[in-house]
Amino acid sequence: MQYLIDQARVFPARVAAHGMNLSALAGGHRPRALFVSCSDARVVPALLTGIQPGDLFELRTYGGLVPRRDTQALSGEARTIEYAVEELKVSDVIVCGHSRCDVASDAVRGAEALPVHDMSWPDDSALALAGDDTAAGQWHTLAQLDALSGYPSVIPRLADRTLRLHAWFYDVDTGAVFQYHPRASAFLAL
Ligand SMILES: [Zn+2]
Repeated sequence: MQYLIDQARVFPARVAAHGMNLSALAGGHRPRALFVSCSDARVVPALLTGIQPGDLFELRTYGGLVPRRDTQALSGEARTIEYAVEELKVSDVIVCGHSRCDVASDAVRGAEALPVHDMSWPDDSALALAGDDTAAGQWHTLAQLDALSGYPSVIPRLADRTLRLHAWFYDVDTGAVFQYHPRASAFLAL
């Protein structure tokens, strides 16, 4: 804990040393994208993307889970997504899964079928992927993106092409990042 405290104390000095001007963000933020990922400590979106403060709106959850939209009980996750899409009007959403994600593996083993909205996802059954952790993690990532694509705020923005959805997969062993290509039905290196 002391390391975290020490780092936070010198943060203003580090910001100044890197030439960042935080006061420019005092009036608000216009992030480039919404980044949805697992809370896993090995996944560090700011490091992956090289962003500055103000660049990325983040939603980090257990396993990167995106709940299906439920109008009866709007969850914190749903509020985060709606705010990013409706208020901040981000142009891109990145759902980033990762290798060695126990949550993803467990979720895939417990899944039966992937509901499909209007995007092209692989039709492999969850059961067939359960033995391969990387394939399971990637399938899980697409399932979260699929859930997100069903949000009322997302649907019209996909229809008028003002919002793009991306599925990324981060290899915690190497730092490599892969992106899903629907036409290839595969995650390919960025
Ligand atoms: Zn994870």
